[in-house]
Amino acid sequence: MRKRILITGGAGFIGSHLCEKLLNEGNEVICVDNFFTGTKDNIKHLLGNPYFEVIRHDICFPLYVEVDEIYNLACPASPVHYQKDPVQTIKVSVIGSINMLGLAKRLKVKILQASTSEVYGDPEVHPQKEEYWGNVNPIGPRACYDEGKRCAETLFFDYYRQHNLPIRVVRIFNTYGPRMHPNDGRVVSNFIVQALKNEPITVYGDGSQTRSFCYVNDLVDGMIKMMNNSDNFTGPVNLGNPEEYRIIDLAEKIIDLSNSKSKIIFKPLPQDDPKRRRPDITLAKEKLNWEPKVPVEEGLKRTIEYFERLLKEGKIR
Ligand code: NAD
Ligand code: UDP
Ligand code: UDP
Repeated sequence: MRKRILITGGAGFIGSHLCEKLLNEGNEVICVDNFFTGTKDNIKHLLGNPYFEVIRHDICFPLYVEVDEIYNLACPASPVHYQKDPVQTIKVSVIGSINMLGLAKRLKVKILQASTSEVYGDPEVHPQKEEYWGNVNPIGPRACYDEGKRCAETLFFDYYRQHNLPIRVVRIFNTYGPRMHPNDGRVVSNFIVQALKNEPITVYGDGSQTRSFCYVNDLVDGMIKMMNNSDNFTGPVNLGNPEEYRIIDLAEKIIDLSNSKSKIIFKPLPQDDPKRRRPDITLAKEKLNWEPKVPVEEGLKRTIEYFERLLKEGKIR
């Protein structure tokens, strides 16, 4: 059956892949975005589809539409972007979530929240399981994002308990792939763009900190499986790739895969930068029968091809 699905943040990196996949599955998609970090370029290939609709709107203001399902992704996601306007960042997660929850409540429809591994902060438990409560600095520069996302989770679970609203919460770990913003400062896009331009690769700190990188198509499959799970499993559930890399090793891998002449240089580590991060995805495997399929090298190659194209087209300065 064709569903009408609302995706907030649909013009962003992950949102645009989600729009595409849900349209391909035969649904109608309404993409709501204020283009704070997203771009029309990310969705322009979908604009000819009669089942695709775009609304320019900031979800901090109420929204009245009629839909069957909601994916709530609106929120700047990279540290550079979310720290540019921290007050707006926390507003999107808190006020924006209240509005989308109010909308879901009126319509009595399922709503999925794109939460984040950042709710674990700088984790003292490794790898991170869903029952870990996290180690977050409430007044640091990352707090607008981390605490905003934590509050959004609280709101989702309160609407669930108080109003019986069907909710889904996924905690997304570092995700990469085509349509990442070239200037948002995230490690994969930074390193690839630097490598392709044969410029120095900027490793922050000594590069011994770790992250685990999930290819965007795998992630989107997991989100859809979570939305559609039939036993009303609310989550939170971790979605990410459990393969863990030191940042310095990622730099070397990207230099290698892009045949770059770049040298590695070291820059200061940003404040509150988590030292280690790797998802425990046992729960996702068990409940959703989901695990990532795309090996990191393959995903990185596809992402390198994407940025090569942007460079050729003069879309990266
Ligand atoms: P992104 O910045 O590319 O996408 C976010 C989108 O939300 C953009 O299109 C932006 O314009 C839009 N937006 C921001 N504020 C809005 C507002 N007030 N109203 C309407 N639209 C608004 O980031 P992304 O990487 O695609 O992330 C999508 C979601 O996934 C975010 O909620 C993010 O927190 C979460 N997430 C992403 C990652 C990752 O590694 N990419 C990891 C964890 C969680
Ligand atoms: N809301 C919305 N669209 C709707 C229904 C509600 O944007 O279709 C917003 C509304 O502005 C409200 C918020 O969602 O501020 C929370 O709604 P809820 O019904 O939970 O709370 P209330 O309206 O009782 O404050
Ligand atoms: N990082 C880096 N060089 C860069 C960008 C990021 O060494 O040019 C590091 C950063 O300090 C962090 C890791 O890479 O330890 C991941 O950073 P990103 O901003 O992509 O995501 P997050 O910190 O939110 O996981």
